[in-house]
Amino acid sequence: MTRFVVAGAGLAAARACATLRRKGFDGELVVLGAEHHAPYDRPPLSKAVLRGDRDDAPLPFDVDTLGVRFRAGVTATGLNVTERVVRTDDGDEPFDGLLLATGAEPVRLPGSGEQLTVRTLDDAYTLRSRLRPGARVVVIGASWIGAEVATAALAAGCRVTCLEAGPAPLSAALGGEVGALFTPWWSDVDLRLDTKVASVDPGGVQLADGAVVTADVVVTGVGVRPATGWLAGSGLEIGNGVHVDEYLRTSAPGVFAVGDLAARWSPRLGARLRVEHWDEAGAAATVAAQVLLACAAGTPEADLPVHDPVPYFWSDQFGRKIQHVGRHGPADRAEVDTSDTARPAVRWYSPDGGLTAWLGVDRVKELVPARKQIADTLVALS
Ligand code: FAD
Repeated sequence: MTRFVVAGAGLAAARACATLRRKGFDGELVVLGAEHHAPYDRPPLSKAVLRGDRDDAPLPFDVDTLGVRFRAGVTATGLNVTERVVRTDDGDEPFDGLLLATGAEPVRLPGSGEQLTVRTLDDAYTLRSRLRPGARVVVIGASWIGAEVATAALAAGCRVTCLEAGPAPLSAALGGEVGALFTPWWSDVDLRLDTKVASVDPGGVQLADGAVVTADVVVTGVGVRPATGWLAGSGLEIGNGVHVDEYLRTSAPGVFAVGDLAARWSPRLGARLRVEHWDEAGAAATVAAQVLLACAAGTPEADLPVHDPVPYFWSDQFGRKIQHVGRHGPADRAEVDTSDTARPAVRWYSPDGGLTAWLGVDRVKELVPARKQIADTLVALS
């Protein structure tokens, strides 16, 4: 293995490069990044950067120390796995090994009005400049991102309306009953639940029932899609993300995919997952780099490192930290613990009584034991 290319320049790319060098890879390393920034961390974008507490969130990625040829502002446009070449908008990049790490793109709603999203550093700067005292800000989606944007907009003195299609904040991720726990947090927001948006038009948002909500700023936070468009025609197996096995291998030899882009097979859950969270991208990239080197060294499959962690993420909103670990299915029972009303917790149990997921508000110390208990349950279920 002499020439390793990484398509995408986010968290996963930075972690993969660091791991490859730490593990002794001394070949050529090329990173393609559509943005003009070196890899940076996204979680602060909707938190400290939007609030104005910091201006950037760089990741450890020193091109000289790492010996990386970083091609900033170069977009991968196609992949030929037979010729082993990545097409870009600035020439071809041949590879011996390839890591696909192009992340995800925000979903946009119909309409010709301006809709801001928060995916990139430049997005965060644009939105931050628009959060002025008194501005009428409409946030579409009471999602993880929507809640963080609403928090920053309130802090900036904006008048905030949130339009949510579901019956409660975060209901798409957590269900209506658990999501309702968070409704009181939105007391300073004009939160409109069960409200569907038809289009974003100049000057405001048109609802499905024909009503119009006027706005100075519209922020759409209704989810993301894996950035797979450039891989059309590559022959890779792609569904809701690039399909990889528990070793992060795609259907093409020597081609790996990780992070928000990948839909990985989880032996633990007996299911394919696309986990759009920070913990996942960094951990998967570390394992993919190790698998790549192990494969090049002829290591038998049984000895390859497996990537199958219990999914974890956090969100900081309305002055609280929510942490969630595990994965709950539709048949699981949610047990809501409001004995401490300021710090609620939720535990999800499988039909046979094992803990499958845990959520805590400002309960940082309880995370590790919950994660361990969930790992034990999920091993027992697999
Ligand atoms: P990305 O970080 O998206 O990096 C992909 C990179 O590839 C991007 O720089 C993109 O420009 C580039 N790219 C895309 N297409 C191409 C192409 N064709 N050619 C070249 N380059 C390309 N997770 C949490 O757990 N907790 C949080 O609180 C949290 N907050 C978040 C807040 C925001 C605003 C965002 C956007 C995400 C947040 N996340 C959070 C999720 C977490 O940041 C992502 O899961 C993580 O960044 C995924 O890393 P990645 O490397 O897979 O993709």
